Amino acid sequence: MQITQERIDLGRTVTDTPIELVAYRLTAPTAGKKVYIQSGMHGGEITHWTQHRLYNFLKENLQAGEIVFVPFANPAAWEQRAYFYTFGKFSLYDGRDFNYHFPGKADGSLNQRIARALFGLAEGSALVLDLHTARNSIPFGIYSKDDYQDIIRDLALPYNFQDQGEKAEIEFMDQLDAQNIPNVCVECGSHDEYDAAKNEQVFQGLLRVLARLGLIDKKHTIAAQNDVFSFQKDAKIIAPESGFIRYDTPLGVPFKKGDGLFTLYRTAALGEETRVSAPEDGVVYKRAPTHIYRVGDDTLHYVPKANLKRL
Ligand SMILES: [Zn+2]
Repeated sequence: MQITQERIDLGRTVTDTPIELVAYRLTAPTAGKKVYIQSGMHGGEITHWTQHRLYNFLKENLQAGEIVFVPFANPAAWEQRAYFYTFGKFSLYDGRDFNYHFPGKADGSLNQRIARALFGLAEGSALVLDLHTARNSIPFGIYSKDDYQDIIRDLALPYNFQDQGEKAEIEFMDQLDAQNIPNVCVECGSHDEYDAAKNEQVFQGLLRVLARLGLIDKKHTIAAQNDVFSFQKDAKIIAPESGFIRYDTPLGVPFKKGDGLFTLYRTAALGEETRVSAPEDGVVYKRAPTHIYRVGDDTLHYVPKANLKRL
């Protein structure tokens, strides 16, 4: 096993400290496929738990091929902090999502330089896994092409979003599709969370994916027991008025039409509350990571039961 660390120079900060992308490359003695696993495109999305565990596992068990880990895909995104919060989704410099700078440009803005360097690391991969977290959520996969259904089945997260929306080719996944590099985005759970069960679920899924590609032996994998569904369209509920929301339906547990989804404590009338119930059968898979809502804010997103397709 050969392990190398690469540091890609992206320039220097205003205060003249280096800005670098750090990659860890594990190469097995036996030739095989290359898999690229990226975390931290958005600051504050902690998928480091999974990278940490997988890296240590593969140091011992990579049997063929090569794995490239990038723990912090956008170093600048992790430096946007206020008090204990890391605001790493949108750049405070240009207002754009940090993930919207692909394919990147070697002599462009810092975010374009980062995107170009990341794309260079991912080139030649049999699979790219882009790890994120989503608001407050259960782990779920995001994929574009039907060709990637095998990967989604191996991951075996219960609810997976097939994103066939407009291809602006500015997001990492869109650009990978354009270059015919198979890819899946894994939302590993909630922002700034440690959840042992979610970490285990994602880790076991990734092992099955790596076993299918021949990078590890199948003996290390555990067969998934749950059903795997895909959906192309979700539904969301916005706050009907301003207030504080107490969620009444847990994430990932199917609900029936008429079940209470959440209770809104109305700021317009102290002592009054509004119960918001489900308009149809479904399952909540993500919701805003706050109890504080202004009228019209996104509250929860659910998948209507009618939109679920078993894979
Ligand atoms: Zn993200």
